[in-house]
Amino acid sequence: MSEVNRTLPQPTQLTEPYWNAANDERLVVQCCRACAHRQFFPRPFCLKCESDQIDWQEVSGRGTVYTFTINYRAPNAAMKERLPYAVALIDLEEGMRMMANIVNSDFADIAIGSAVKVVFEKISDHITLPQFELTS
Ligand SMILES: [Zn+2]
Repeated sequence: MSEVNRTLPQPTQLTEPYWNAANDERLVVQCCRACAHRQFFPRPFCLKCESDQIDWQEVSGRGTVYTFTINYRAPNAAMKERLPYAVALIDLEEGMRMMANIVNSDFADIAIGSAVKVVFEKISDHITLPQFELTS
């Protein structure tokens, strides 16, 4: 079955650098030019000093599982073929928290605190999703 009906992220002017980097298999977050604060998800200004001078910076892609769940019921027909799948909040080494799927991993091995690293799942010609897999 094709995934043509899957809801895909729609890059905006604000988020386009994130999605372009993901297409190149790089994980990036915003970094404030004025105070070096890093943040995720993308915003038009720095949460720490309110500067609008924001750059993008590649991060390690390493992190730990803050929490997770295994989905056995799909929110829509397009996601049904992926069942079951793991959804997690990942704490990156650099301090930001992001939501992603944990892929390529035995669900029984996923635990709060598990070490993970980013992997990239190309889901369309224009969208690649940063996902995570267990590292141990
Ligand atoms: Zn700042």
